[in-house]
Amino acid sequence: MDTIRETLERELRTVMSRLRLLEGAVLLTESLGTLGDNTPFADEVDEIQANERREIGFATRELLVDRVNRLVAALDRLRDGEYGVCIECGESIAPARLRVMPEVATCVRCQDRLERTSHQLEAVGVGADAEDD
Ligand SMILES: [Zn+2]
Repeated sequence: MDTIRETLERELRTVMSRLRLLEGAVLLTESLGTLGDNTPFADEVDEIQANERREIGFATRELLVDRVNRLVAALDRLRDGEYGVCIECGESIAPARLRVMPEVATCVRCQDRLERTSHQLEAVGVGADAEDD
C-alpha cells in the first residue's frame, strides 16, 4: 500500500500532466483559430466553438490549478507533521475522508461551515460527504 506522501506525489504528477495536456490543447485551439477559413459562415461557427472550448479549458484549468495548490499544501503539512489535522479547528480529519481526498485540509464540520459562508464553492462538488462520521 502506498504511503500518503506517495499518494499525494502521484496525484500531483497526474494533475500536472493533465494541466500540461490541457494547456497544449488550449494553445492548439488558439493557433488553429487564427488560421482562418474563407467562408464567412464557417468562420463564425468556428469562432463560437473555439470560444466555448477555450471557456471549458479555462474552467477546467482553474480546477486543476486549485487541486495542484491543495496537493502541494498537503505535502507541506505532511513535511511539517501537520497532515491530517484540520487547518480550521485543529481536530483530526477522519481517515475515510483523507482516503477519498488526500489533499483535504479541513474536517467535514469546517468544510460544511466554509461552504455555507461561501456559496461559490458549491459548483466544485466537494464535501457534503455524510459517511465520514
Ligand atoms: Zn475542522
